[in-house]
Amino acid sequence: MYDVAKVRADFPILSREVNGKPLVYLDNGASAQKPRVVIEAMTRAYEHEYANVHRGLHYLSNLATERYEAVRGIVARFLRAPDPEEIVFTTGTTEGINLVSYAWASPRMQAGDEIVLSVLEHHANIVPWHFLRERQGVVLKWVEPEADGSLDPQKVIDAIGPRTKLVAVTQMSNVTGTLVDVAAICRGARARGVPVLVDGSQGAVHRPVSIPDIGCDFYAITGHKLYGPSGSGAIWIAKARMAEMRPFLGGGDMIREVTRDAVCYNDPPMKFEAGTPGIVQQIGLGVALEYLMALGMENVAAHEARLRDHAMARFRGLNWLNVQGTAPGKGAIFSFTIEGPAHAHDISTVLDKKGIAVRAGTHCAMPLMDHLGVTATCRASFGLYNTTEEVDRLVEALELCRELFA
Ligand code: PLP
Repeated sequence: MYDVAKVRADFPILSREVNGKPLVYLDNGASAQKPRVVIEAMTRAYEHEYANVHRGLHYLSNLATERYEAVRGIVARFLRAPDPEEIVFTTGTTEGINLVSYAWASPRMQAGDEIVLSVLEHHANIVPWHFLRERQGVVLKWVEPEADGSLDPQKVIDAIGPRTKLVAVTQMSNVTGTLVDVAAICRGARARGVPVLVDGSQGAVHRPVSIPDIGCDFYAITGHKLYGPSGSGAIWIAKARMAEMRPFLGGGDMIREVTRDAVCYNDPPMKFEAGTPGIVQQIGLGVALEYLMALGMENVAAHEARLRDHAMARFRGLNWLNVQGTAPGKGAIFSFTIEGPAHAHDISTVLDKKGIAVRAGTHCAMPLMDHLGVTATCRASFGLYNTTEEVDRLVEALELCRELFA
């Protein structure tokens, strides 16, 4: 039985007040709060176990290296990936996707080659491909979502043509909560010999992930949404794709030997990890992922499904609330506007006065906002510590907004 009160007690920040009201934190899609175990592990690392990794021969350097390198195995276990050497540490999804763009995609794409994307994507899975369009004449082919916000995998597969070199899709929209059947997309793409990059920034936070079941080539995650520290993250890259990649950033750690005339690179994954990494951040990520695995991602998913169902039932009673995206099986992420003159920023300001933290704006997804025909929305994104009572507090505050702005 998932005990949400017990889970909440693990997160110190949840007991604080904001504007004189108990905090209702519904901005998890932007960044999640951290459990005490993560905070304490990071403090312990700085207080007792800190030194630079990989290079030192002394005790603390070896200890820090051991702690840091162990996280590769934890990430692999979390993603059910067979080999920790396929995990490249990053500062988050943005860096992971840029790595693929520079190190894998750029050298193998000519003018007129295509990348298939969905309109649901976050800018992190758009702008690195725009770079290739600007610099190399690569063509971006966009697949539209359906009216309910879902993405038809067959439409993505049908968009693959003879010049398609990559499909890049999100597993879950950070705006509508749409869950994308990335495994179906990967099956279709594989049959056509086209690699797939999956943006797991939201997907990995809300349900169990199994890389072998998805069948993708690249899978990026970001630590701060996974209840870990900001500046932590990883990308899983299939061995075969890693072997095709040139290095991205150059510097220490990613080399085996440097002379005045030549450089010999380290083996992957270190070939793609230049310079001093986020040592303590990645250690914190490892603890966060262990925490999630101990809770059980199936249990987290079931809890969040209850929150989603409760929220959808309550929202249905508010006929002036326009919720974007109602696709079956969607995550507990709700973007909405209120009929009338209230801007999303006005709504979020009123909610903030009630201690409720939501996001307002374009959510780094401008092509999707354009598709939806809105300039901005409010977004309430739920996490593993939220409760149905918090849904009710949100609804109460929205009713106040309606009164104020009607
Ligand atoms: N992709 C999606 C779907 C996201 O929601 C986000 C963050 O909001 C990102 C990518 C980018 O993650 P980060 O800023 O941590 O690199």
